[in-house]
This record gives sequence, C-alpha cells and structure tokens, in this order.
Amino acid sequence: LKYSEEQAKRKQLYNQIQETKGNIRVFCRCRPLSREESSNGCATVVDFDAAKDGDLGVLTGGSNKRTFKFDRVYTPKDGQVDVFADASPLVVSVLDGYNVCIFAYGQTGTGKTFTMEGPEHNRGVNYRTLEQLFSVARERSDAFTYNLSVSVLEVYNEQIRDLLATSPASKKLEIKQTSEGSHHVPGIVEAKVDNINDVWSVLQAGSNARAVGSNNVNEHSSRSHCILCIMVKTKNLMNGECTKSKLWLVDLAGSERLAKTDAQGERLKEAQNINKSLSALGDVIYALATKSSHIPYRNSKLTHLLQDSLGGDSKTLMFVQISPSEHDLSETLSSLNFATRVRGVELGHARKQI
Ligand code: ADP
Repeated sequence: LKYSEEQAKRKQLYNQIQETKGNIRVFCRCRPLSREESSNGCATVVDFDAAKDGDLGVLTGGSNKRTFKFDRVYTPKDGQVDVFADASPLVVSVLDGYNVCIFAYGQTGTGKTFTMEGPEHNRGVNYRTLEQLFSVARERSDAFTYNLSVSVLEVYNEQIRDLLATSPASKKLEIKQTSEGSHHVPGIVEAKVDNINDVWSVLQAGSNARAVGSNNVNEHSSRSHCILCIMVKTKNLMNGECTKSKLWLVDLAGSERLAKTDAQGERLKEAQNINKSLSALGDVIYALATKSSHIPYRNSKLTHLLQDSLGGDSKTLMFVQISPSEHDLSETLSSLNFATRVRGVELGHARKQI
C-alpha cells in the first residue's frame, strides 16, 4: 500500500513535468582534453560558465560565441555517478511500465562508450542501470515481481546481429510485427538475469562477440550501433495484472562525416549507412515533434527496431557527447545542432496526433 501511494505521487509529479516539458531529455557531456591534446597545447572551445543552468557556450572563432541549451550540461569534471544520478529516475520508470530509450550520440572519441559502458573500475550507465533495477525490484518485492531479461544486439551496415547467439552468422535477423502491433526480432537470445553477476557475464559475452570477425575492434565499434535491450515483465501481486516494458541503451555509431574523397568501397557503404540511420533517428523524432501524420520509422533498422519505444508515452534521453578541442569544432557544432533539433520534441503532445 505504501508503494501504491508512492507510485501515485510519482505519476502525478511526472504528469506535471510532462505537461511542461514533454518526454525527451537531452544531456550534453564533454570529455576532458586527452593527455596528448593537453601536451600539444590544444585550445578548448567550450565554456561552462552557465553549465549549471544547462547552457553550453562554444567559441566559434574570433570573439564569436554560440550558446546551446540542454536539460543538463556535464563538464569534464563530472563523473559517472553525477551522470547516473540524473538518468536514474528515467531508468527506474521502466519498472512502472514505461518504455525508455537512452542514446549516446557524437563523434568517435567523445566518450559515448565511456558514458554507456565505462571502464571496469568506473562503470557507466548500462551496468548502473541494471544494478539500480535489481535494487528497486527488491525494495518493491512485497507488491510486485519482476522478471528481467537482456538482449545484446549490434546494427552494422543496416543488418542486425545478435551478440548473444552461439552462431551469430548463421541466421538473418528481421524485425516482425506481432498481431498486437508490437515489434520484435524473432529468434534473438533473451538472457534471463536474476542478479548483477548474471548481468556482468552477459555483457562480457556480448562485448567478446562484438570483436569476432573484425580486424580492428575499435574501428568496427565506431561504425556500428551497439544496443542493450532490457525487457521487464511485471506482475502486480495485489491484482495479478501483468505488464511488459523495455529499456533500450544505445551506443550509436560515430556521427563524424567522412571527407568525401576519403571514403571508397566498403568504407563508403558503411558511412552511408551510418549517415542514413542517424538521420533517420533525427527525422523520426522531428516528425513526432512536428506532429506529422507519418512517422518514418521504417527508414532505418535502428528506428524500426526501437519503434515501440519512440513516441507515445515512451521516454527518451539522448547524451550528446562532445570534445572540448578546437580541432573538433566543426563536428562539435554539428552534434550540438543535431541535439538541439532533437530537444524540440514533445513526445507527449505528438502522441495525440498519431
Ligand atoms: P567513443 O565511444 O565516443 O568513441 P570513448 O568512450 O572510447 O569514445 O572515449 C574516448 C576516450 O576518452 C577514452 O580513452 C575514454 O576513456 C576517454 N573519455 C571519454 N569521456 C571521458 C570522461 N568523461 N572522463 C574521462 N575520460 C573520458
């Protein structure tokens, strides 16, 4: 009973926030200058004077400065704990039945993997999320039972690969629609996880599989979207009601534009596919924002896969990752512009038009 009161209060609070802000949050995180950049005397173009208010300044040359507004701005001094503290209410809402998507967007080398995966001694959002879900599930165990399972997927060159499959190359994975209209990928492994130790071995298996078949793991990771999907089945012990919800944690492919003359053959195809899926993601969110009657989910594997969790009353968080270095200025501006467009979304309002 205590829990239902708490839940009612949270929903009320959430609805108030939603009315004024919609369901999209964009957090901007800037990595520190690397040791090499510092020793080369590399200049910083980012100014955090008003970071506390969500304002990020970018020095664009001469005395020009552009200001971008976000829901949060993290300076290079902010750590994994600070970032997760803000993401935590959102991830927990999957236990209340909401679908949630969290993306890390940005140029390669700006900290997408650091934010989502993190090093072993300083773990990121993925691991902290599961830890938090198990802990909240335990607190609520008198009123609810939760079954959690995890899939680890990769989208590379518009093809889905199941990183938990024992023979990943053997079958072609396709997205199918169920009779109730939800989307799924038949045949993918959904590993049941009962505690955080199970999670760790599943995540390890996923990242080992990622390395298989690629000559350069880092390059391969920067050109594919790495997706962790947490599926939650909830049973309300008071009324016997069962619900399903999903939380997607996505480390997107690098957003940098390849110089036209650089790319040929396989590289060109990869670049086109990345470009296609990242713009499709932007277009879907933009279509929701502008209440378009057609939401172009089908334009990329990524948006098609995440269709059930983008729109409606789903919640979305995008980390836009940037570099502070003057050498990355044009990519930084391009990422900030993309994220600004995304931030205009009011999914809650858009839903009424769909
Ligand atoms: P991406 O996934 O965007 O290609 P990475 O996560 O691999 O980028 O980060 C590039 C490098 O910068 C790594 O060495 C990483 O440890 C470091 N790095 C990124 N963000 C931070 C941060 N907030 N604090 C400390 N080091 C960071």
